[in-house]
Amino acid sequence: MIYLKTEEEIELLRENNLLVSRTLAEVGRHIAPGVTTKELDTLAEDFIRSHGAVPAFLGYQGFPASLCISINEEVVHGIPSSKRVLREGDIVSVDCGTFMKGFVGDSAYTFAVGEVAEEVRQLMEVTKEALRKGTAQAKAGNRVGDISAAVQEYAESFGYGVVRELEGHGLGRKMHEAPGVPNYGARGRGPLLKQGMVICIEPMINMGGWEAEMDDPNGWTARTADGSLSCQYEHTIAITKQGPKILTSQDPILDAPYLYEF
Ligand code: MG
Ligand code: MG
Repeated sequence: MIYLKTEEEIELLRENNLLVSRTLAEVGRHIAPGVTTKELDTLAEDFIRSHGAVPAFLGYQGFPASLCISINEEVVHGIPSSKRVLREGDIVSVDCGTFMKGFVGDSAYTFAVGEVAEEVRQLMEVTKEALRKGTAQAKAGNRVGDISAAVQEYAESFGYGVVRELEGHGLGRKMHEAPGVPNYGARGRGPLLKQGMVICIEPMINMGGWEAEMDDPNGWTARTADGSLSCQYEHTIAITKQGPKILTSQDPILDAPYLYEF
């Protein structure tokens, strides 16, 4: 079932997503060699709670932390730990969710730790651009496949692998609503996009092959099958009369240079 949101509901989703964006900005200010992923998780939880929300991931299907923090070949759903220490040259994908006023926020950003190699920088830029290209297709009258194909075609044109085991989703009172939003697919296929839909587009792009391993003993963390680096950005987008409206990062309070406008 796809729930169409009213303008008031979209505003509550926007409030949540702006808090997620501010939390990611706060986390980004603390990313540095020597920092543990547990430290980042703790500061995010404190930040979220101090702004009147609760971390949406904590306890979700038993997930034990407020953030998913996935380093290098980890695709998504890395579990923060006092034993995981960031090192110069790593890339760190941080996925964050909030719950407040009956609605959820959800966004992810991949940060570089210090200086990263040029080819890694390119993977990050291409993943960001793939998200932009997918977002541009998020308008009433298009289909989910138009988003999927735009992401896939752009990423694959650089020889990268597009993860297929995981996908974006609708967002509302629940973290995962219909429709699923795959990052690969065919134009003109899939559910029709309508005004009032709110979706998360979240390409996971690998430097190597697209295959991901989903059988980590911790029950959560997905990794690239070939050990290559994986990068992810995620925005929450409302489909409005005026076109795609990004709910995640357009507040002027977000002056962090890595939170970009479309
Ligand atoms: Mg997310
Ligand atoms: Mg999501």
